[in-house]
Amino acid sequence: MKRKVVSAILLALLALSACAGCGSKSNSIIESSNTNSTDKSIISSVVSTESSKQENSKEISKVESHAESSKPEVSKIEKKITSIKLNNSDNVKVYDDECKYDYISLKGSGYNNYTNEVKFISTNPKVATVETYGNKGYKDRVYYKVKAVSAGITTIYAQTKNGELKTDKVTFTVKSKAEESRLVEESRLAEESKRAEESRLAEESKLAEESRKSEESRLLESSKNANTTNTRGNGNNFNTYDNEEQQNTTQYVLNTSTKKIHRSHCRFVKKIAPQNYSTTSDLQSALAQGYKECKKCF
Ligand SMILES: [Zn+2]
Repeated sequence: MKRKVVSAILLALLALSACAGCGSKSNSIIESSNTNSTDKSIISSVVSTESSKQENSKEISKVESHAESSKPEVSKIEKKITSIKLNNSDNVKVYDDECKYDYISLKGSGYNNYTNEVKFISTNPKVATVETYGNKGYKDRVYYKVKAVSAGITTIYAQTKNGELKTDKVTFTVKSKAEESRLVEESRLAEESKRAEESRLAEESKLAEESRKSEESRLLESSKNANTTNTRGNGNNFNTYDNEEQQNTTQYVLNTSTKKIHRSHCRFVKKIAPQNYSTTSDLQSALAQGYKECKKCF
């Protein structure tokens, strides 16, 4: 059995080299050898035909008759592709280092495998190239591989070798990964710079608000100070006034005209002319300025 297999393989190889010599297409064992199928599949096909010796010799005679034939017109009449259809006709988008696999479906007569009967075309190979990728065991399919090269748009389609039948065209858009990441980076930087500007403005406005508040409180403070220190009297209008509100203080009361210091409850306090009225919490300082304690209330 093993020996038979080996001899069958040898026969197949012989047939292959004969076909390669004549350069024409075939539809027998040779064709499956010519495809991208693996050696394993050749062997299995040979093994399956080998199981029946009759069938095996039939295949061999087929090969022989083909190898001897010098009239390709005959096979042209026998073999005919009647339809060729692209599986996916959508707009395909990929990045510049990606590959995309897909297949076309074919119908016809006289073919076991269409792999060598069609060619794939990329109208702009600088954007993407396309190549046949075998039939992966499907009788009526031919797989192809599109390899993206650089950013741009190309059109992919397949046609029969004589150009009679063509598939739909697929627009194939290649996007540059570098360009895309550059755009992402640009937009990230723009966002960052926008945030920085926003936070700068917020900080500025916060500082302005703080400065406004501090100025307000400074003015308020100085106006308070003005109330306590700017009251300078210049006349003694004792007994002219009877202002009890002047007693509503917890501080010492000064008569800036008489240079007397009173406690707030002192009855003289309400008699002090408003322009001579002042208060202080610092008794020692008042004494140092020459004020004397009132004899009535101290
Ligand atoms: Zn007094």
